[in-house]
Amino acid sequence: MANAAPSLTLNNGVAIPQLGLGVFLIPPDETATAVATALDAGYRLIDTAQGYQNEEGVGEAIARSEVPREDIFVTTKLVNGQHGYDRALAGFDASVKRLGLDVIDLFLIHWPLPMFDQYVDTWRAFEQLLGDGRVRSIGVSNFKIEHLERLADETDITPAVNQVELHPQFPQEELRRYHDAHGIVTESWGPLGQNRGLLDDARVAELAEKKGRTPAQVVLRWHIQIGNVVIPKSVTPHRIRENIDAFDFELDDVDMETFTDLNVGRRLGPDPNEFDLV
Ligand code: NAD
Repeated sequence: MANAAPSLTLNNGVAIPQLGLGVFLIPPDETATAVATALDAGYRLIDTAQGYQNEEGVGEAIARSEVPREDIFVTTKLVNGQHGYDRALAGFDASVKRLGLDVIDLFLIHWPLPMFDQYVDTWRAFEQLLGDGRVRSIGVSNFKIEHLERLADETDITPAVNQVELHPQFPQEELRRYHDAHGIVTESWGPLGQNRGLLDDARVAELAEKKGRTPAQVVLRWHIQIGNVVIPKSVTPHRIRENIDAFDFELDDVDMETFTDLNVGRRLGPDPNEFDLV
């Protein structure tokens, strides 16, 4: 099957599919099956992390798939305990081994952990990996504007991506404006609201009914139309297929207004300035 999601172009010219499979909380022994289902359904972006402990399953599905490696965009993330220049390089080597890949398409700093003040050194290691051709692009996750500004002041390369919690209840408008002004692609995590009520909201259900789509599809369509990369997670085959089937319809301005009303300005996950789990 052809790639069912169009691509965006990162600030280094690399193309990234606009929708992919997130594999957070997919048990290691179920990951290869979920990734294989996604590849069969047309997904070409897989988002894992060292902390998810399922990189091997991602690699296994890619190795077994008939989809050529170069058609698949693989993201992984440096686990919090590996901050610092040398540890980040060692952490990258471990990921490459577990994934069974020579090159990773996108490597992200998972969380900034500003209380430990190491993310600038970590980013210098990421710049080194990029210079050495071991990654095709480098980015960050859960960075606030102040963290991005510090990288801009003290390092050379602008992150290609910032992957952050983002959904209609927490749309991160100010951060998105900053990204747009600096050529950083916004990637939404928790895009469906992590199964905590968003998809059951009557306003989402009503819009879905009007469009002849599912609540998940209209929410994913909103992410796509605001220009984000989006990585919904599912292990259920029919949902995996449903989630990528969001590219053949459009939300008009009135439809998009529905989502404005859903903004509660509250995160589901931790504030990046407070999250210190290593
Ligand atoms: P999500 O919003 O994608 O929610 C996933 C849940 O939504 C599923 O477990 C399922 O219960 C439900 N769901 C999925 N498809 C559905 C459908 N079609 N209909 C109804 N319900 C459906 O939340 P997430 O998994 O937290 O986020 C997605 C991905 O983002 C993760 O898998 C991971 O790759 C990434 N992520 C990154 C960070 C980070 O710190 N960078 C944090 C969390 C998640």
